[in-house]
Amino acid sequence: MDRILQYEHKILKRHTLVIMILLFYAFYAYFDQRELVTPIFSIVIFVIITASRFVLMKINYGFQLVIYKVANIVYMTFYAYYIYDDRLLVQGLSILLFFINFIEFIIILEPEAPSEKISLLWMGLLPLMISSIINLMRSILNIEIIIYMGVLWAMLYHTLNFVTYYIYEQKKIYLNLNSEIQKNKIENESLEIEKINYKKLHHVLLSQKQEIEKKNIELNRVSSEMYTQSELLRYISSVLDIDELIGLVADSIIGAIGVDTCMLYVFDEGTNEKFYKVNTVIEYDFLESFKSDVESGVYNRFYNMGKPYMDSNVDMQEYPFIQHREVGSIIIVPLVKSDNVYGLLIAEHHTKDMFDHNSMNFFKSIISQINIAINNANLYSKMEEIAMRDGLTGLYNRGHIQSIIIEAIDHLENDEVLSLALLDIDWFKKVNDTYGHLFGDEVIKAVSSIIQRIAHEHNGHAGRYGGEEFLVVLPKKKLHDAEVIIADLHEEIKALEIIYKETTKVKINVSIGLSALPTVAKNVESLLHRADNAMYYSKNHGRGKLIIDHDSLLDTL
Ligand code: GH3
Ligand code: MG
Ligand code: MG
Repeated sequence: MDRILQYEHKILKRHTLVIMILLFYAFYAYFDQRELVTPIFSIVIFVIITASRFVLMKINYGFQLVIYKVANIVYMTFYAYYIYDDRLLVQGLSILLFFINFIEFIIILEPEAPSEKISLLWMGLLPLMISSIINLMRSILNIEIIIYMGVLWAMLYHTLNFVTYYIYEQKKIYLNLNSEIQKNKIENESLEIEKINYKKLHHVLLSQKQEIEKKNIELNRVSSEMYTQSELLRYISSVLDIDELIGLVADSIIGAIGVDTCMLYVFDEGTNEKFYKVNTVIEYDFLESFKSDVESGVYNRFYNMGKPYMDSNVDMQEYPFIQHREVGSIIIVPLVKSDNVYGLLIAEHHTKDMFDHNSMNFFKSIISQINIAINNANLYSKMEEIAMRDGLTGLYNRGHIQSIIIEAIDHLENDEVLSLALLDIDWFKKVNDTYGHLFGDEVIKAVSSIIQRIAHEHNGHAGRYGGEEFLVVLPKKKLHDAEVIIADLHEEIKALEIIYKETTKVKINVSIGLSALPTVAKNVESLLHRADNAMYYSKNHGRGKLIIDHDSLLDTL
């Protein structure tokens, strides 16, 4: 429309010139006494048209194009009207102006679509038809009617053009509408398909989400299991005490799997010790009942099974050991090491379906780690044992027997007494000198084994205190009870015959000092000192005697 307005602006300037010419002609006609209606009417129409075109220029694009066209038709009708003028000049000018205007019109509108071309044809034809009819009427009727007719024709044309335009527009709208409906229909169909696809996608995503959630739970479980295992591994290298270890295992299992209760029983073959552990979130202490259940053989059927047992839908009647607590799921794993069951691990949870095959695998892996840990602990205790024992005799070494004495004294209650004997082989240098050092060792070993046996028989401890000096610790033994035991020991040593080179029987004797705490000695140092004194008493009084410590003995030294 901007382009149309541009052209209009130029054209209107020229039209102003035409108005001027027509005005001059009107004046001329007036003074020349000529017919005035035509020029005045022409000027009025021309002015109206030009003014309307000015107005159109100010109004923007839209339906105004129709008005613009109508205005042009009227404009051209005006020119066409004068084609029938009897004056040749007017006729010629009218034809010229008509075609110039028509060309202007074509230039401005630039018709491209067939409908536009038809519309343009109408623009040319209508003014000619209207002007022909007006002129025909003019010859038949008087001039006023002709003017009215002109206006009538202009209106008729306007209506016709408008109707044509309207029909065209409507058709366009209808077509657009149809295509719009068609488009909507297609869009709806594709939307429907999309909807179905989205639904399918939604389902796929939903199942994927569930799958991911499951995997996530699984991952969390695995990671917490791995954490537990790595924690265990970490501790395994440092924890060398079975009791501490099973406590840690029970804690870790509760932490990792979130069970209510974890119970552990371990029998240590190395030391013949039994370990029990109950860790639970339930405020009820059933360690003692667990111990007695294990002892009474309630768990034997699981123990003998040799492989893990799982029940995710527990009927509590079936398990006599379940008391005072709600159990929905249970897992019982025998601890097996080279086909030998040495313990049990029991995990319980109050809800059903708590465990699955993954839990089973987890427990199996835990067991292999407990095995490693217990092996380590046993190995360590063996090493510890080695460290505290004398290499030649297997008796406790000096350092350890001293700490045993201190510990045993600590455990004495009220009027309980600890007796201590110190033994020294008599004339041992001679044995060495006569039969050699190796034989001397054999003698030490033979004496040691008697000492060891007798000490154990009376819940005592034996140690090698020096080269051929030994200690026998008898906790909770009063001096006169100890005297009987040590006297027996003395007799056995005296009776001992060590064969030298399969021919010579070598016999030995020992000097023994026996003291007691707190009845005689008051502390460890004094106890050892007094036992030594008593032993030396024997040495100083012919050797081979058992001397019982008493206060007056000190004075004899
Ligand atoms: P006494 O009756 O006064 O005790 O005389 P004794 O010869 O036994 O004297 P003493 O106890 O002082 O000497 C201990 C000797 O034992 C000295 C050492 O050569 C010997 N002996 C110490 N340890 C060992 C050992 O492990 N093997 C052997 N064969 N001899 C040892
Ligand atoms: Mg000695
Ligand atoms: Mg000696």
